[in-house]
Amino acid sequence: MRELYQAKDRIEAQLLKDFLASYHIQTVVHGDYLIGAVGELPVQPFPVLWVLEERDFDRARELVKHFLTQEMADGDWQCTQCGECNEGQFNQCWNCARVRD
Ligand SMILES: [Zn+2]
Repeated sequence: MRELYQAKDRIEAQLLKDFLASYHIQTVVHGDYLIGAVGELPVQPFPVLWVLEERDFDRARELVKHFLTQEMADGDWQCTQCGECNEGQFNQCWNCARVRD
């Protein structure tokens, strides 16, 4: 098992996990759910995606890169208030509801 990518939140981690699964690459997410857990596990503030099979790692890394650059597609805009990416067809930020400038 090999560490692939540290996601910014659980949602992104899950999206990537599903995305990679569609390419038959199995991953597990370790991370933020450990917050608040009792025990000796170190607290990991961000979810981290791990590739189960070493042989999938290089391909998985390429796919993640592709996935991340795809986020800002043509016509997308970035919210000036919260920094989220929004699709061009929307005139309001999905995250904080700020109207597009
Ligand atoms: Zn926003």
